[in-house]
Amino acid sequence: MGNKIKSKLEGLNRYYFDKDTTTQFINFLRDQATVIAPHSKGDVSFSFEEVKNAEDVVLEYPRTIQPLKKMFMPPKEVLINFNLKSNKYKQPDLKPDKRIFFGVHSYEMQSIKRLDFSFTKGHPESNYLTRRENSMFIGVAFEPDKWHFSSAVGIDIEETDGFAIYFYPLGPGYLVFEITQEGGKLIRDFGLGTLVNDQDLEVEEKEFKTKIKYHYNRLPEIFKHVYDSKVWEDVAQKCLGCGTCNLLCPTCYCFDVQDEIELDAENGQRSRSWDSCMLRGFAEVSGGENFRNSLGERTRHRLFRKFKYITEQSGVLHCVGCGRCSSYCPADISLVDIVNNLIDDYSDQQKKQAI
Ligand code: SF4
Ligand code: SF4
Repeated sequence: MGNKIKSKLEGLNRYYFDKDTTTQFINFLRDQATVIAPHSKGDVSFSFEEVKNAEDVVLEYPRTIQPLKKMFMPPKEVLINFNLKSNKYKQPDLKPDKRIFFGVHSYEMQSIKRLDFSFTKGHPESNYLTRRENSMFIGVAFEPDKWHFSSAVGIDIEETDGFAIYFYPLGPGYLVFEITQEGGKLIRDFGLGTLVNDQDLEVEEKEFKTKIKYHYNRLPEIFKHVYDSKVWEDVAQKCLGCGTCNLLCPTCYCFDVQDEIELDAENGQRSRSWDSCMLRGFAEVSGGENFRNSLGERTRHRLFRKFKYITEQSGVLHCVGCGRCSSYCPADISLVDIVNNLIDDYSDQQKKQAI
């Protein structure tokens, strides 16, 4: 058993839902919006899908294969339909449907907040922002596995920022916390939970097995000193350049834009699809020149985007510690090992300078 700790949930209105009440609550939500929640996919995997049957929702899961970003920025989408003869174009109509995302982990919610930053800064991205309208998020606590390290990048399991309601497992059911007024209204309109505000609240401290050696506040500073580290080449020796780490990352958003002309040589579509800075063609320009030819350079770019470049603008790390890049890497490359090796390299540099 872990230590009991006070958490950010302290002082919030809370209710108790048993498993049946939780299923009824999901059905209640389905009466008012499209509900998207984790479902089993095969024997050991999970996926965010639209709920057709509340019984199929899985609330105890380590992580989904694809992050929630697929619901706001699909892997491929048409940006415009055009006609070359009339020289006119039309954007597909996007409706900001009301959607409730149920059973979301705190690091996943924080990844959406990171994407909000990326898509509103500079020229706002209208497709993302339209899909983001009318979205409500309901969180659930999770049990960290060997890949999670969200606490090491400053995101607690019980971080409620972004959620309207938060579910915390207790016995055979859940403590259900009102985080926003809208969430509280939803719970009261549902009306079947039992108010349990009188219950003492201490949650069990969950141990993360994967740890970064330094506090996350120090990471941007360390990244100022490791641009020429040998660690990048060490990683490149193992990396296959497959791009899986980018494509599954909840905060990566790079895309490629392609025009396709139909056989009538008149109508066409401009579409965009996810891209990856770990793929060779990503930084290739006409004439065959490539700004990041080696896998070491590409790995460095990937990590600098997470821990330095965007962080300097937004003030927060753009890795949320979901562990997807490490758990699905076919070459067994762990992002935390890379960061810890960079920390070792940095402290060796500091020691040499002190002599
Ligand atoms: S998933 Fe692994 S092997 Fe593939 S590009 Fe990323 S680090 Fe390299
Ligand atoms: S870099 Fe890896 S651990 Fe960090 S958010 Fe992306 S996929 Fe998750």
